[in-house]
Amino acid sequence: MVEMPRRVRVYEVGPRDGLQNEAAPIPTATKRRFIELLVAAGLREIEATSFVSPRAVPQLADADKLLPSLPRPEGMRYPVLVANARGLARAGQAGARAMAVFTAASDAFTQRNIGLTVAESLATFGPLIHEAGHRTWWTRGYVSTAFGCPYTGRVDPARAIGVALALLELGVDEVCFGDTIGVGVPSQVRDLTGGALAAGVPLGRLAYHFHDTRGTALANVVAGLEDGVACFDASTGGTGGCPYAPGAAGNLATEDLVYLLDGMGIEHGVQLAAVLDAARYISRALGRPLASKVGRAGGWDPTTGAAVGSGT
Ligand code: MG
Repeated sequence: MVEMPRRVRVYEVGPRDGLQNEAAPIPTATKRRFIELLVAAGLREIEATSFVSPRAVPQLADADKLLPSLPRPEGMRYPVLVANARGLARAGQAGARAMAVFTAASDAFTQRNIGLTVAESLATFGPLIHEAGHRTWWTRGYVSTAFGCPYTGRVDPARAIGVALALLELGVDEVCFGDTIGVGVPSQVRDLTGGALAAGVPLGRLAYHFHDTRGTALANVVAGLEDGVACFDASTGGTGGCPYAPGAAGNLATEDLVYLLDGMGIEHGVQLAAVLDAARYISRALGRPLASKVGRAGGWDPTTGAAVGSGT
């Protein structure tokens, strides 16, 4: 039995995954301020933006301006999403030092999203990962639809694990299994973690990206923790709804994850009250109430019994 990690990495995806599907343009200055607040809250891995076609993701078309303007305290990492050589070159010019690529465990999903089969996507990303390694960038590979696909249903964990192994073989520093449509449950997380470790995925190079679409995200985090997984994605304010279930929750909220980890006594370096400040900031900027549980209820001071930092 693996021990629970004493410390985990909270990998913030709000500025990229949370905002990318927002229809109304968000000013670059607002994105920068949001990220400054996240840095002030102690987050040190923030997926900042995407260097992909501005036609594909117009909301993140300001990546070249945004990335160089961000604060860089000691140990700060701003992974950016890249899909081709042109994007990698743009990212490099903007000062990127960390990159993420995005494939999936389902051909139907990658074909509709990036116009490639999974195998073709791996063939495309190989040279990019190699080039990033040559530049000494940190790299992550996403395995989306690791539990279920919106077009083909349940995904066999062996399939997700095979894609993760292929990404590691190509040289990524970390693989991240994504529950893209928020259908996974803890027993599936245990199966996937156990299978991945047995197949040779190192525990320290394994991360999870859960969605709270059906209310299972934190339960899934706990299932990961119990098997020693020590990196979880989250989006401050719970931004980034589920594109496959309009109006539903998507990304696990950072404040909900931090509350859980605080209560369990697991270290992470993030201050809940300051995350709630950042969550309120982005919620006001988007003109929507906070989607997170802790954003609505506030944190909780066990010495007084009072809610802390609640409300918008
Ligand atoms: Mg997501």
